[in-house]
Amino acid sequence: MSQPRSEQPELLVLRALMPAQMEQLEQAFRLHRYDLADEPNALLDAVGSRIRGVVTGGVPGFKAEMLPRLPALEIVSTSSVGTDSIAVAACKEKGVYVTNTPEVLNDDVADLAIGLVLNALRRLGDGHEYVRSGQWAQRGMMPLGRTLKGKRMGIVGLGRIGLEIAKRAEAMKMEILYTSRSRKDVPYTYHATPAELAANCDVLMLACPGGPETRHLVNASVLAAMHKDAWLINISRGSVVDEAALISALERKAIGGAGLDVFDNEPHIDARFQQLENVILFPHHASGTIETRTAMSQLVVDNLKAHFSGQPLPTPV
Ligand code: NAP
Repeated sequence: MSQPRSEQPELLVLRALMPAQMEQLEQAFRLHRYDLADEPNALLDAVGSRIRGVVTGGVPGFKAEMLPRLPALEIVSTSSVGTDSIAVAACKEKGVYVTNTPEVLNDDVADLAIGLVLNALRRLGDGHEYVRSGQWAQRGMMPLGRTLKGKRMGIVGLGRIGLEIAKRAEAMKMEILYTSRSRKDVPYTYHATPAELAANCDVLMLACPGGPETRHLVNASVLAAMHKDAWLINISRGSVVDEAALISALERKAIGGAGLDVFDNEPHIDARFQQLENVILFPHHASGTIETRTAMSQLVVDNLKAHFSGQPLPTPV
């Protein structure tokens, strides 16, 4: 049964969840829609002191500057596994809990990662364009792709998602190599640094978190270590790659290409990417399925309900 309106904890919504989960929130809480407000600042002035929970996502995240305006805040719940856009340390310092959505998105993100590899090596997008544009009938067979079997996939960040990517790549008969902060008990070859990994693989797959610790982990020297047919695939965060160095490598055809789901400055990405032919571009949508976004949304609701009923948080950061 939903609580009487006056006793319902008040939440600030920075980003909406899926409709069914928004309905659950509406039943249990009093919502203030910062995401829809014409004057978000005025909304904060009016209700900020009563807000006990924040609902957000990887975009727009949650900035430390908001904390002084939300003095009663107890919990920030993000519909994302990545917390690089959430001021986690500042929240913890104020005793504000942060929750995220690990695990439920692993499969879709890993599927998309493999999709980008298939698109890169087997040229799915090119083939689609070849048929659609009539080139098939005019020119005959399109240029050949490359086989996945036997190729070496080097994974940067063998965590929850990285492991799912590895399993799928194994099924495609690829050889798996990896680097992580720590060595894992897995039958894959460990390399101590991204540069060493880059020098030894055909597909460099980024699956680590974003944030200051991994900023430009893939820089000009890592890209220079890749061989000229190797592809970079990034489903992690744009910040992990030095984009200027990547664009330079792509323009010089120093690497085979790049399959990118994530960028700096999304969605206003560097326009040079749109001019390049050796890229596959995807709009940060690796977890973008109805099923997974529903599961992520439900986890946000479950965390908030658990917190406000004194239960342990399902997925605290
Ligand atoms: P996770 O389980 O925490 O795994 C992260 C892995 O990265 C761990 O193996 C960790 O190593 C490794 N790592 C951390 N810092 C590193 C560094 N400096 N150098 C090398 N490896 C490092 O996280 P996850 O659930 O798999 O998610 C990974 C990331 O994927 C998220 O943080 C998010 O940014 C991204 N993501 C993107 C999308 C999308 O839509 N494109 C969707 C979901 C997630 P240790 O195990 O040794 O600590």
